[in-house]
Formats: sequence, C-alpha cells, structure tokens
Amino acid sequence: MAKEETLTSEEVIDKARRYLSEEDADYLRRAYEFAADAHRDQFRKSGEPYIVHPIQVAGILVDLEMDPVTIAGGFLHDVVEDTDVTLEILEDSFNHELAMLVDGVTKLGKIKYKSKEALQAENHRKMFVAMARDIRVILIKLADRLHNMRTLKHLPSEKQRRISNETLEIFAPLAHRLGISTIKWELEDTALRYLNPQQYYRIVQLMKQKREERESYIVEVIDELKHQLNDVNIEADISGRPKHLYSIYRKMAKQNKQFNEIYDLLAVRILVHSIKDCYAVLGIIHTCWKPMPGRFKDYIAMPKPNLYQSLHTTVIGPKGDPLEVQIRTKEMHEIAEYGIAAHWAYKEGKHLSKENKSFEDKLTWFREILDWQSETHDAEEFMETLKVDLFSDMVYVFTPKGDVVELPSGSVPLDFAYRIHTEVGNKTIGAKVNGKMEPLDYQLKNGDIVEVMTSKHSYGPSQDWLSITQTSQAKNKIKQFFKKQRRDENISKGKEAVDKEIRALGIEPKEVLTQDNLNRVFEKFNFSNEEDMYAAVGYQGITAALIATRLTDKVRQARQKEQNLEDTIEEVKNDTNTVTKKVQKRDSGVKVEGVDNLLVRLSKCCNPVPGDPIVGYITKGRGVSVHRTDCPNVQTEDVRQRLLHVEWENSPTDKKQYHVDLEISGYDRRGLVNEVLQAVNETKTNITYVNGRSDRNRMAVIHITILIHNTGHLKRIVDRIKQIKDVYTVTRTTQ
Ligand code: MN
Repeated sequence: MAKEETLTSEEVIDKARRYLSEEDADYLRRAYEFAADAHRDQFRKSGEPYIVHPIQVAGILVDLEMDPVTIAGGFLHDVVEDTDVTLEILEDSFNHELAMLVDGVTKLGKIKYKSKEALQAENHRKMFVAMARDIRVILIKLADRLHNMRTLKHLPSEKQRRISNETLEIFAPLAHRLGISTIKWELEDTALRYLNPQQYYRIVQLMKQKREERESYIVEVIDELKHQLNDVNIEADISGRPKHLYSIYRKMAKQNKQFNEIYDLLAVRILVHSIKDCYAVLGIIHTCWKPMPGRFKDYIAMPKPNLYQSLHTTVIGPKGDPLEVQIRTKEMHEIAEYGIAAHWAYKEGKHLSKENKSFEDKLTWFREILDWQSETHDAEEFMETLKVDLFSDMVYVFTPKGDVVELPSGSVPLDFAYRIHTEVGNKTIGAKVNGKMEPLDYQLKNGDIVEVMTSKHSYGPSQDWLSITQTSQAKNKIKQFFKKQRRDENISKGKEAVDKEIRALGIEPKEVLTQDNLNRVFEKFNFSNEEDMYAAVGYQGITAALIATRLTDKVRQARQKEQNLEDTIEEVKNDTNTVTKKVQKRDSGVKVEGVDNLLVRLSKCCNPVPGDPIVGYITKGRGVSVHRTDCPNVQTEDVRQRLLHVEWENSPTDKKQYHVDLEISGYDRRGLVNEVLQAVNETKTNITYVNGRSDRNRMAVIHITILIHNTGHLKRIVDRIKQIKDVYTVTRTTQ
C-alpha cells in the first residue's frame, strides 16, 4: 500500500480495472462523479478539495480488492454526513445496498471515543462491530481512518493526539482482529508518531544506523537459502521481513528491552506455491541450521482465528544469531496482509449485487469462521467475541458522559437505569434518548445516548416495569423493591416478628398488645399507625426487638419490682433464720402466704387483732410487720409497693392476747372512769393501761389499753362500754 502518494480518481479506477470489469469501472466513475459534485464547494484542513479524501479512501479499498459497491461506498462515504445528499437520494441514484453501507459509515462516525480504561475500549470495539452489521462498513471505516491518519499533520496537535489515541484503542485492534495487518501496522506506526514523537524518531534513527549492516547480512542469508532451494527445485520469493516501529516500541516499553535486543533479531519470509512446498522448505531450513526448541509453530494446520496461516520457526543462523523464518503460500500471505478483506476480496466471479446475496455470503463467511473456531485453541483472539457480536443480541449505548453500556438487545431505558444503579432504576421517572424524551419501553439502539431522569419523590417501580424490562438484573431489582414494599405481607411478617420477640421476653403478647399501649409505642417511633409500624418491621426498617422492648416496658418494670420483692423476702428469710437461733420466735398468729418461717410481728401503731383486715409490710432486716389495712402508715405509695398478703391463722387462738387501745369520751361526772373499768372487768378482760382527763367543757376522755383475743371479743367490750350512761363514743385508736 503506497503511503504518501495522492491518487486521482482515474488512477483509482484504473487500478480497479485490474480485477473489475469495464461495466464496474463505469459504475465507480459514476459514484466518484456523484461524490465530487456533492463535495464540490468543500475543502479539507490541508487546503485540498474535499473530494481528494474520498478518492484516497476508495483507493485503499481497491488495494484490498474490494467489490464495486464497497469501493463506491468509499467514494460516497461522507456525502450523507457532510452534504445535502440524503440516504433516499443515494438509494434512488444507486441502490439500497450502497445506501446501507454509507449509512453504516455515517453512524460509526457519530461514535465519539473518549479515552477510558481498557474495558471501555473493548466495548467500543464491540459496538463498532455490532453497529456496522455489514463487515464492509468497517472496512470502509478503516480505509477512512487510514487516510485521515496519513493527513493528520494538518490538524491541531490536541486533535492529533485524540485521534491517534482512538486509532490505537479502536481501529488498529479492529484491523488486527480482521487480520488486515497492512492497515494495522500503518495505523499503529502513524499513531505512535503523534503520541510519542520522541521515541518514534529515536527508533527511526536507530533503524537507519543499523540498516546497512543488517541488509548485507540478510542478503547473505537469502543467497544461501536460494542456493539450497534451487537444489531441490523449489521456486520461492525470499525477503527480509520488515519490522514495524510500533511493535519495536511496544517490546521495548513492555519487556523493558534495549533496541538492539529486539532489532538485531533477523527475520526472513519465504513465499512458495503450495502447502507441500511450505513443509519442504521447513525441512531444508532445519537441516541447514539448528532449530531453537519450542519456537516452531504450525499455523497452517492450526490457523489463527483471524485467518492467519503460516509456518514459523527460529534457527541459529550462519553467524550464530537467532534467525526468524516465516514460510507460507502466496494465498496465505495475502490473508496475512489483508485478512478478512482478502477473504472478502472480489474474485472468483462472486458478485454481491443483490442485498440478500451479500447477507448470505456474510453468513457463509461466518460459518467458515465458526468452523475454524472449533479447530483452534487460540482463545485470546478476538473472533470469539466478533462471532458473538455480529449477530448478537447485544446493544451498545452511551451514558451522557460517554461510557459504553452493553445490554441485551430489546433493552429499554429502565434496563439501562438499573445497570447504572439500583437507586437510579427505582427513582426513574423518564428517559431522554439522544436528547429527546422517549417512553420507558423505548427499545434502545446501538449508539444511543441515554439519560435517565429520576425524582426523589418517585414512588418507585410500577408493576408493568417487570414486563417492559429485558435484563434479569433490572427484573430482580424491581422484584426486590416490591418485596420490600409489599405492605400486607410485611405487616403480618412484622407482627409475627414482634410477637415472637415479646414471647422471648417471657411475656404473653396478649398482655401488652392493648390499643393504648400500641398507640403509645407507634407514636413514640413516629409512625402514623400500628400497621405502618409492623410494615416497617416487615421490611426491616426497624427491628422487632426494639418494638417489643417498648411494648413490654411497663410490664417488665412491674415484674422487676416483684422480683425485687422476692429477693427481699429471701433476705428476710435469711434474717429470720438468724434471729430464731438467738431468740425464741414470737407467735403472732399471722401467716404469710407462701412463705414459712418468716419473722412476723404485729405493728404497734394500729395493733391489729384477729378478725381485722390486715396486710404485711416488708421491712429491711426486721421481718414482716403486720398492719391493719386502714392503718394510715400503710397508705403511702412507697409502702404499698412493699406490701404483702398476710392472713390470720385459722386455728383457735383464744389463748393469745392482743393489745388494743380504746378512746372513750363522755360527760365528765364523778364515777365514770370506775364504771368503764368495771364494765371491762365484767367481760373478764385484762386492762394494761388507763388514763383519764377532762376539759373545761366537762368533756371527759379516757384511754385504756386492753388485752383481747379477737375482734368478736373486742366488739362485746365496746358494746358494753357504750351502754354506760353519759358515754358518747368508743373508738379504737392508732398511735
Ligand atoms: Mn471520511
């Protein structure tokens, strides 16, 4: 491929005549004239008429021996993008096939690659292939890029770098994977010149210095080989194999090697007429020079996925240096240089004029590739992906920032949204595709720029999103969301969990799930009702344990007090045991329910007697004191918490005596006190204390303390005293 010469349209068409008919040449001329007319007022940055560029692109395609439609596509590849000509006009003026090729090239031109990580580059390459649909679109695009690289010097340096980067990341790998090494090398070398001029020119310089020395050595090797092959009558083209700048640069950079270590490797290429000759030549070389172990590769029996076939070997050459040798047929060489293009090349009378035929051919080609695939083990190569992608079910779209997102075809903006982030998906309210609002079930196309619109106030996915979305990722996220939000389910789940937690605290849920208590708790946690609270527990917005703790706080406090009481009783018991050892236990006639052996004494303040309603009071360290239930001393809240149920013993306790204080008031006359004492005596009751006084109003107040057996006994005494003349009241007093 001639690098720097600029061809005229006639030169291009003349070249094409070498393998195309006169009729085809006329067709190409018509395509050229159409393009020249469309671009007539346009100029390139170099100052040349614009049409020079499409002519060169067509020229490159002729070098690849492409079919007439592809070459016409080269002439016309920019008319839709840059002139008033529409696809419809192209289709009317030429045909559908040509219009489709130009359309493909136009679309690829709209993909702007921003240098990102390797994965993005890979996605870009995939998108290119997927969008192209027809492999010839990529060939036109490669030719276009090659000529643009050749004329890059006319652009500002920033653009030079950007385009060179894109070329290295996208176009050179594509050329490689399609096996078009001539284009690949030139793209890489040119890109390097702009990206790293210093290294580029240094390598050029070093190569120049070594050239003479190398060339004389190569000539020596070639002479020797020719001599050997003549002897066995094998006709062969032998040449020194050019090394490419970029590969030297890469090896130096990647393997950290010196220029000499790489460039001094001698390499020759031998082209023969048949596969049989390939192996014959290999045998001769291995008898002349000692082969280096592990360096023989048979890519004829095992072709590379990008169609490459050849024999490779390295031997110790005449001067004791390693010598690389490639042996292949001329057909193999063509494929090595032109790859897919060589396979696609317009020969053997294959006319691709009918659209369907072209598609069928592509399928045929792919079937061949697939067959190759099954025989080859070189998994690193691209064909695997290429094969998947050309007919695949993937679609490649952009984020507004230019990242490529790969989705199954048929995907909608929602799939894209969920791929970006679950929250973006859940909050999606709409989508812009290529700057225009589109419905959420819009089917994404390759190269679409997708912008998802979200709202904080979105209620989340709707049920029909499940049928709109294509990716399982999106469907799963939507289902997850519903799961979270499925209210009824969550309420019952939440209630179950709370009940369980309450039981775990040793409390029956019924006991605490009163409406009042529930209201108190959901308000405490700022829920508007108990269902909201349970639902929140159900989707784990709040823990069941926290709710259960709140619901049971009062019951648990009460229980705690009881527990403390029991502890105290236990304490008192211990005290009692100690006391009873020293002092004889006084029999109070009172029993404490459920507790035996407790130190019990009757309080002095209210002097309860059998028959009085009584309670026990737990004292610290002094046992249980028994009070009348109406005793003022057991009415306060503090005391109530330490009260204990006690009762009188049933056994007849008439022998036991209890102190009772009585206050008797009456008219102060001589002999009243005596009459009272006499009345008490008549009931055979002992008196332990008597005191009497009177005031100015002749009101007498008598206090007596008597010993009685029970309330019945007491009642008889009180009734008897009341019968005494001038007695107004008899009351039982407390201290
Ligand atoms: Mn162009």
